[in-house]
Amino acid sequence: MQMRNLGESGLFVSELCFGAMTFGGTDGLWGKVGRLDQEDADALVKVALDAGINLFDTANVYARGRSEEILGRSLRNLGVSRRDVVIATKVASAMGDGPNHRGASRGHIISECRASLGRLGVDYIDLYQIHAFDSATPIEETLEALDTLVRAGDVRYIGLSNWAAWQVMKAIGITRARALAPVTSLQAYYTLVGRDLEREIGPLLSSERVGLMVWSPLAGGYLTGKYSAGGNAAGGRQTELDFPPIDRIRGEPLIAILKAVAEKHGASPAQIAIAWLLKQSIVSTVIVGAKRVEQLQENIRSASIALDDTDLAKLDEVSRL
Ligand code: NDP
Repeated sequence: MQMRNLGESGLFVSELCFGAMTFGGTDGLWGKVGRLDQEDADALVKVALDAGINLFDTANVYARGRSEEILGRSLRNLGVSRRDVVIATKVASAMGDGPNHRGASRGHIISECRASLGRLGVDYIDLYQIHAFDSATPIEETLEALDTLVRAGDVRYIGLSNWAAWQVMKAIGITRARALAPVTSLQAYYTLVGRDLEREIGPLLSSERVGLMVWSPLAGGYLTGKYSAGGNAAGGRQTELDFPPIDRIRGEPLIAILKAVAEKHGASPAQIAIAWLLKQSIVSTVIVGAKRVEQLQENIRSASIALDDTDLAKLDEVSRL
């Protein structure tokens, strides 16, 4: 597993990151995303660690805190040394009904950081990310709260998630002008069936040397090809949850090319979709999601697939904006 600097920071992260969004769901949205218990989680985290993955992504809102609890316990169950893993979590989504139980205000960020530290069972978070832009809070307030957490030693690096290019640029400007902890990374959706990020975010991240953590690299499983003719999507998330939303009209010719490139490499469409992301220079790490050990093992093998110029040209032609 290759290690890459996260943005311009000195933090090294594996080019594949393990996403823990499937841990702990019971019903509703999180039940649809995944219902993995502690035993399932231990097995997946072990496969990830054995493959050399050092970066683990979760969020306070995933299964209302259960994902953080389960991930933290898995890392302890497996006897992992704290300094050998990079733990990333997020804040901003609603954790309760009141107006101060959501968003990116100073109060909510600081309270939720304490809660996340407790659920994860750690004394610092490596990467603390604002899950979504909060238009009700001044960006200055958010960035100063994050800086407070960094100075207190609760958080090592700060990141953003799902912010528009102008919002990211505004945040970068403010951190520089006020000498606050810098923005290290952005989490964003980017796949062969969703390349919108290349318009504004991509050039911004290259120019400002902010790292990119890609979420939903298989478009929720769609890029495995199992939702197309001949596939077996029984029980698959996209049968009951259209997340992320997919343009299936654009998607079908792409799936055909993915299958052809996969056949050439003796690989699966999922592996080619992830290998393509790893070839994009703006990508720091790809957050892989998997519900089963076999899925994770398959996805991890993407890192050893070498796509050539012909493969890349075919994939680009069928998927470009
Ligand atoms: P993917 O797009 O990779 O979808 C993962 C799902 O696809 C799995 O749960 C599984 O679902 C299916 N799948 C995965 N691998 C295979 C395979 N080899 N063969 C067949 N099916 C497969 O990623 P996610 O949407 O799960 O997101 C990954 C991570 O990104 C999350 O865990 C989270 O950490 C992060 N994320 C961040 C967001 C943000 O707003 N910042 C938003 C979303 C995710 P099934 O078996 O049901 O088909």
